[in-house]
Amino acid sequence: MFIVIDDALTGYEAQLLTAALTAYAGPPPSCEECRTIKRSRAMAVRDGNQGMAMAMATAMGVHQRVSHG
Ligand SMILES: [Zn+2]
Repeated sequence: MFIVIDDALTGYEAQLLTAALTAYAGPPPSCEECRTIKRSRAMAVRDGNQGMAMAMATAMGVHQRVSHG
């Protein structure tokens, strides 16, 4: 059950991350906000907090667009 949900979330995240990377396509994300969001998302994924993970993935997409777009 968790694996199925996790797979779906991973697919969703992959779409967001692909979009973010496509928009970025340059140096690795190294600003403080990027690192904070990335770390928060990684921790949420590790903890199985899917709501938080999805929120962080979305936050990253928004941040990329606002601050790096
Ligand atoms: Zn950033």
